[in-house]
Amino acid sequence: MGSPSGLEDGNLGEGGEGTSGVGLSSLIFLGTGCSNTVPNARCLIQPSDPPCAVCTQSLYVPPEKNPNYREQVVRWFTHHKIPQVDSIILTHEHADAIFGLDDVRIVQSFIPFSPPNDIDPTPIYATKFTMDSIAIKFPYLMNKMWKEGQEVTPIAQLDWKVIESDPDKTFMASGLEFVPLPVLHGEDYVSLGFLFGQQSRVAYISDVSRFPDSTENLISKSGGQLDLLIIDTNSLHKVSSRSTHLCFSESLDAVKRICPKQALLIGMTHDYDHHKLNVLLAEWSMREGIPVQLAYDGLRVFIDL
Ligand SMILES: [Zn+2]
Ligand SMILES: [Zn+2]
Repeated sequence: MGSPSGLEDGNLGEGGEGTSGVGLSSLIFLGTGCSNTVPNARCLIQPSDPPCAVCTQSLYVPPEKNPNYREQVVRWFTHHKIPQVDSIILTHEHADAIFGLDDVRIVQSFIPFSPPNDIDPTPIYATKFTMDSIAIKFPYLMNKMWKEGQEVTPIAQLDWKVIESDPDKTFMASGLEFVPLPVLHGEDYVSLGFLFGQQSRVAYISDVSRFPDSTENLISKSGGQLDLLIIDTNSLHKVSSRSTHLCFSESLDAVKRICPKQALLIGMTHDYDHHKLNVLLAEWSMREGIPVQLAYDGLRVFIDL
Protein backbone atom coordinates (compact mmCIF):
# COMPACT_ATOMS: atom_id res chain seq x y z
CA MET A 1 0.00 0.00 0.00
CA GLY A 2 1.32 3.42 -0.88
CA SER A 3 1.68 5.94 1.89
CA PRO A 4 0.30 9.46 1.56
CA SER A 5 2.94 11.37 -0.32
CA GLY A 6 5.57 12.97 1.81
CA LEU A 7 4.30 12.31 5.32
CA GLU A 8 5.82 8.93 6.02
CA ASP A 9 9.33 10.28 6.38
CA GLY A 10 8.14 13.56 7.83
CA ASN A 11 9.01 15.63 4.78
CA LEU A 12 6.81 18.10 3.01
CA GLY A 13 7.81 19.42 -0.37
CA GLU A 14 11.28 18.72 -1.71
CA GLY A 15 13.31 19.03 1.47
CA GLY A 16 14.88 16.27 3.51
CA GLU A 17 17.26 16.09 6.44
CA GLY A 18 20.86 15.95 5.24
CA THR A 19 19.90 16.69 1.63
CA SER A 20 18.04 19.60 0.08
CA GLY A 21 16.23 20.14 3.40
CA VAL A 22 19.26 22.02 4.74
CA GLY A 23 18.29 25.63 5.30
CA LEU A 24 14.57 24.92 5.22
CA SER A 25 12.60 25.65 8.31
CA SER A 26 10.97 22.69 10.00
CA LEU A 27 8.35 21.77 12.57
CA ILE A 28 9.28 19.33 15.32
CA PHE A 29 6.46 17.62 17.19
CA LEU A 30 6.62 16.96 20.93
CA GLY A 31 3.79 16.01 23.26
CA THR A 32 1.57 14.65 20.50
CA GLY A 33 -0.54 12.52 22.85
CA CYS A 34 -3.46 13.52 25.06
CA SER A 35 -3.32 14.97 28.57
CA ASN A 36 -3.62 11.51 30.18
CA THR A 37 -0.57 10.46 28.17
CA VAL A 38 0.14 7.00 26.78
CA PRO A 39 0.49 4.62 28.50
CA ASN A 40 -2.53 5.56 30.56
CA ALA A 41 -1.39 4.69 34.09
CA ARG A 42 -4.84 3.37 35.03
CA CYS A 43 -4.66 0.74 32.28
CA LEU A 44 -1.48 -0.56 33.91
CA ILE A 45 -2.39 -0.47 37.59
CA GLN A 46 -6.04 -1.51 37.12
CA PRO A 47 -5.78 -3.69 34.00
CA SER A 48 -8.95 -4.68 32.19
CA ASP A 49 -9.59 -8.19 30.90
CA PRO A 50 -8.24 -8.45 28.26
CA PRO A 51 -5.64 -5.77 29.04
CA CYS A 52 -5.43 -2.59 26.95
CA ALA A 53 -3.22 -3.56 24.01
CA VAL A 54 -1.82 -0.06 23.37
CA CYS A 55 -0.79 0.65 26.96
CA THR A 56 0.63 -2.84 27.43
CA GLN A 57 2.59 -2.56 24.19
CA SER A 58 3.88 0.89 25.13
CA LEU A 59 5.63 -0.61 28.16
CA TYR A 60 7.85 -2.53 25.76
CA VAL A 61 8.69 0.48 23.61
CA PRO A 62 12.23 1.69 24.36
CA PRO A 63 12.02 4.38 27.06
CA GLU A 64 13.45 7.05 24.77
CA LYS A 65 10.36 6.66 22.57
CA ASN A 66 8.03 7.16 25.50
CA PRO A 67 9.27 10.18 27.46
CA ASN A 68 7.66 13.05 29.37
CA TYR A 69 8.24 16.73 28.59
CA ARG A 70 11.57 17.13 30.34
CA GLU A 71 12.93 13.88 28.92
CA GLN A 72 11.69 14.92 25.47
CA VAL A 73 13.71 18.11 25.70
CA VAL A 74 16.78 16.11 26.68
CA ARG A 75 16.22 13.63 23.85
CA TRP A 76 14.85 15.62 20.96
CA PHE A 77 16.53 19.01 21.48
CA THR A 78 19.88 17.23 21.47
CA HIS A 79 18.91 15.01 18.53
CA HIS A 80 17.77 17.98 16.40
CA LYS A 81 20.50 20.29 17.77
CA ILE A 82 18.14 22.90 19.23
CA PRO A 83 20.07 24.98 21.76
CA GLN A 84 17.22 26.98 23.29
CA VAL A 85 13.63 28.17 22.99
CA ASP A 86 13.25 31.64 21.42
CA SER A 87 9.58 32.21 22.20
CA ILE A 88 6.55 30.45 23.67
CA ILE A 89 2.95 30.76 22.48
CA LEU A 90 0.17 29.43 24.69
CA THR A 91 -3.10 28.11 23.30
CA HIS A 92 -5.04 28.17 26.60
CA GLU A 93 -4.59 27.70 30.33
CA HIS A 94 -5.52 24.07 30.93
CA ALA A 95 -3.00 22.07 32.94
CA ASP A 96 -1.65 20.07 29.99
CA ALA A 97 -0.98 23.30 28.06
CA ILE A 98 0.89 25.21 30.79
CA PHE A 99 2.25 22.92 33.48
CA GLY A 100 5.53 22.59 31.58
CA LEU A 101 6.22 26.28 32.22
CA ASP A 102 8.12 25.43 35.37
CA ASP A 103 10.60 23.47 33.26
CA VAL A 104 11.13 26.25 30.73
CA ARG A 105 14.22 27.31 32.62
CA ILE A 106 16.04 24.24 31.30
CA VAL A 107 15.69 25.50 27.73
CA GLN A 108 16.79 29.05 28.54
CA SER A 109 20.38 30.27 28.31
CA PHE A 110 20.80 29.86 32.02
CA ILE A 111 24.07 30.68 33.72
CA PRO A 112 24.37 28.50 36.84
CA PHE A 113 24.16 30.41 40.13
CA SER A 114 23.82 33.80 38.42
CA PRO A 115 21.11 36.19 39.59
CA PRO A 116 17.96 35.68 37.50
CA ASN A 117 18.30 39.23 36.19
CA ASP A 118 21.24 38.03 34.06
CA ILE A 119 19.04 35.85 31.87
CA ASP A 120 17.39 37.18 28.75
CA PRO A 121 13.67 36.62 29.40
CA THR A 122 11.89 34.45 26.83
CA PRO A 123 8.91 36.17 25.17
CA ILE A 124 5.70 34.31 26.00
CA TYR A 125 2.43 35.10 24.23
CA ALA A 126 -0.94 34.47 25.88
CA THR A 127 -4.40 35.99 26.19
CA LYS A 128 -5.23 38.09 29.26
CA PHE A 129 -7.52 35.28 30.44
CA THR A 130 -4.69 32.74 30.22
CA MET A 131 -2.25 35.10 31.93
CA ASP A 132 -4.65 35.76 34.82
CA SER A 133 -5.04 32.03 35.35
CA ILE A 134 -1.27 31.46 35.28
CA ALA A 135 -0.79 34.29 37.77
CA ILE A 136 -2.75 32.16 40.28
CA LYS A 137 -1.02 28.87 39.45
CA PHE A 138 2.53 30.16 39.00
CA PRO A 139 2.68 33.59 40.71
CA TYR A 140 6.46 33.43 40.83
CA LEU A 141 6.61 33.21 37.01
CA MET A 142 4.59 36.42 36.66
CA ASN A 143 5.93 38.66 39.39
CA LYS A 144 9.55 39.39 40.03
CA MET A 145 9.66 38.62 43.72
CA TRP A 146 13.40 38.63 44.38
CA LYS A 147 15.22 41.58 45.92
CA GLU A 148 18.53 43.10 44.89
CA GLY A 149 21.43 41.01 46.14
CA GLN A 150 19.12 38.26 47.40
CA GLU A 151 20.09 34.67 46.75
CA VAL A 152 17.22 33.07 44.85
CA THR A 153 16.21 29.70 43.48
CA PRO A 154 16.53 29.81 39.68
CA ILE A 155 13.17 30.10 37.93
CA ALA A 156 12.17 30.63 34.29
CA GLN A 157 12.51 34.24 33.15
CA LEU A 158 9.54 35.17 30.99
CA ASP A 159 8.58 38.32 29.12
CA TRP A 160 4.76 38.22 29.09
CA LYS A 161 3.01 39.57 25.99
CA VAL A 162 -0.76 39.83 25.71
CA ILE A 163 -2.45 38.54 22.57
CA GLU A 164 -6.13 38.55 21.69
CA SER A 165 -8.63 35.92 20.54
CA ASP A 166 -9.06 37.85 17.33
CA PRO A 167 -7.70 36.85 13.90
CA ASP A 168 -7.31 40.54 13.05
CA LYS A 169 -4.87 41.00 15.95
CA THR A 170 -1.85 39.24 14.49
CA PHE A 171 1.47 39.22 16.33
CA MET A 172 5.12 38.50 15.59
CA ALA A 173 7.04 35.79 17.45
CA SER A 174 10.50 34.50 16.51
CA GLY A 175 10.29 36.48 13.26
CA LEU A 176 7.03 34.86 12.13
CA GLU A 177 3.59 36.42 11.94
CA PHE A 178 0.88 34.49 13.80
CA VAL A 179 -2.87 34.80 13.28
CA PRO A 180 -4.88 33.77 16.39
CA LEU A 181 -7.61 31.26 15.51
CA PRO A 182 -10.32 31.17 18.20
CA VAL A 183 -12.00 27.76 18.44
CA LEU A 184 -14.42 26.23 20.92
CA HIS A 185 -12.87 23.73 23.34
CA GLY A 186 -16.18 22.78 24.95
CA GLU A 187 -19.18 24.99 24.26
CA ASP A 188 -18.27 27.58 26.91
CA TYR A 189 -14.51 27.80 26.49
CA VAL A 190 -12.30 29.37 23.81
CA SER A 191 -8.88 27.98 23.00
CA LEU A 192 -6.56 29.41 20.36
CA GLY A 193 -5.12 27.76 17.32
CA PHE A 194 -2.62 29.64 15.17
CA LEU A 195 -2.14 30.25 11.46
CA PHE A 196 1.43 31.02 10.40
CA GLY A 197 3.90 30.86 7.53
CA GLN A 198 4.34 33.04 4.45
CA GLN A 199 5.82 30.60 1.93
CA SER A 200 3.66 27.78 3.28
CA ARG A 201 0.46 28.26 5.26
CA VAL A 202 0.24 26.14 8.39
CA ALA A 203 -2.60 25.99 10.92
CA TYR A 204 -2.00 24.44 14.35
CA ILE A 205 -5.14 23.66 16.36
CA SER A 206 -4.40 21.55 19.43
CA ASP A 207 -7.66 21.72 21.39
CA VAL A 208 -10.98 22.03 19.60
CA SER A 209 -14.51 20.64 19.81
CA ARG A 210 -16.11 22.98 17.29
CA PHE A 211 -15.00 25.59 14.74
CA PRO A 212 -16.77 28.96 14.60
CA ASP A 213 -17.58 29.73 10.95
CA SER A 214 -15.30 32.78 10.98
CA THR A 215 -12.29 30.65 11.97
CA GLU A 216 -13.11 27.80 9.62
CA ASN A 217 -13.49 30.22 6.71
CA LEU A 218 -10.02 31.62 7.37
CA ILE A 219 -8.31 28.25 7.05
CA SER A 220 -10.55 26.61 4.47
CA LYS A 221 -9.46 26.04 0.89
CA SER A 222 -11.59 28.96 -0.30
CA GLY A 223 -9.55 31.32 1.91
CA GLY A 224 -6.24 30.05 0.46
CA GLN A 225 -5.48 26.36 0.81
CA LEU A 226 -3.39 25.36 3.82
CA ASP A 227 -0.17 23.49 3.08
CA LEU A 228 -0.47 21.73 6.43
CA LEU A 229 -3.24 21.42 8.99
CA ILE A 230 -2.23 20.14 12.43
CA ILE A 231 -5.43 19.26 14.20
CA ASP A 232 -6.71 17.81 17.46
CA THR A 233 -8.22 14.36 17.60
CA ASN A 234 -8.83 12.86 21.01
CA SER A 235 -10.91 9.74 21.58
CA LEU A 236 -11.39 7.23 18.81
CA HIS A 237 -15.16 7.28 19.31
CA LYS A 238 -17.50 10.00 20.49
CA VAL A 239 -17.74 9.61 24.27
CA SER A 240 -20.07 12.48 25.13
CA SER A 241 -22.10 15.14 23.38
CA ARG A 242 -20.37 17.59 25.75
CA SER A 243 -16.87 16.51 24.75
CA THR A 244 -14.23 19.26 24.74
CA HIS A 245 -12.33 17.68 21.84
CA LEU A 246 -13.04 16.34 18.38
CA CYS A 247 -13.11 12.56 18.11
CA PHE A 248 -11.47 10.73 15.21
CA SER A 249 -14.38 10.87 12.75
CA GLU A 250 -15.07 14.53 13.59
CA SER A 251 -11.42 15.42 12.99
CA LEU A 252 -11.51 13.69 9.60
CA ASP A 253 -14.76 15.52 8.76
CA ALA A 254 -13.01 18.80 9.63
CA VAL A 255 -10.01 17.87 7.46
CA LYS A 256 -12.40 17.18 4.56
CA ARG A 257 -14.20 20.50 5.00
CA ILE A 258 -11.01 22.56 5.46
CA CYS A 259 -9.26 20.62 2.67
CA PRO A 260 -5.56 21.30 3.35
CA LYS A 261 -2.84 19.84 1.14
CA GLN A 262 -1.84 17.59 4.05
CA ALA A 263 -2.89 17.05 7.66
CA LEU A 264 -1.39 15.60 10.83
CA LEU A 265 -3.46 14.57 13.83
CA ILE A 266 -2.38 15.22 17.43
CA GLY A 267 -3.80 14.64 20.94
CA MET A 268 -4.54 10.91 20.62
CA THR A 269 -5.55 8.78 23.62
CA HIS A 270 -4.63 5.13 24.18
CA ASP A 271 -7.62 4.24 21.96
CA TYR A 272 -5.27 4.66 19.03
CA ASP A 273 -3.02 1.84 17.91
CA HIS A 274 -0.60 4.10 16.03
CA HIS A 275 0.35 1.76 13.19
CA LYS A 276 -3.12 0.29 12.62
CA LEU A 277 -4.69 3.73 12.53
CA ASN A 278 -2.04 5.02 10.13
CA VAL A 279 -2.84 2.14 7.75
CA LEU A 280 -6.52 3.06 7.98
CA LEU A 281 -5.66 6.72 7.43
CA ALA A 282 -3.57 5.85 4.38
CA GLU A 283 -6.67 4.22 2.86
CA TRP A 284 -8.78 7.25 3.80
CA SER A 285 -6.15 9.54 2.27
CA MET A 286 -6.18 7.62 -1.03
CA ARG A 287 -9.96 7.85 -1.14
CA GLU A 288 -10.25 11.52 -0.20
CA GLY A 289 -7.08 12.84 -1.85
CA ILE A 290 -5.79 14.51 1.34
CA PRO A 291 -2.77 12.84 2.98
CA VAL A 292 -3.44 12.46 6.72
CA GLN A 293 -1.37 10.64 9.31
CA LEU A 294 -1.00 10.57 13.10
CA ALA A 295 1.87 12.73 14.32
CA TYR A 296 4.31 11.30 16.86
CA ASP A 297 6.85 12.70 19.28
CA GLY A 298 10.11 13.56 17.60
CA LEU A 299 8.53 13.87 14.13
CA ARG A 300 10.28 16.56 12.06
CA VAL A 301 8.48 18.05 9.07
CA PHE A 302 10.56 20.17 6.71
CA ILE A 303 8.47 23.02 5.41
CA ASP A 304 9.39 26.42 4.03
CA LEU A 305 7.74 28.94 6.32
ZN1 LIG B 1 -4.70 1.82 27.79
ZN1 LIG C 1 -7.53 21.99 27.16
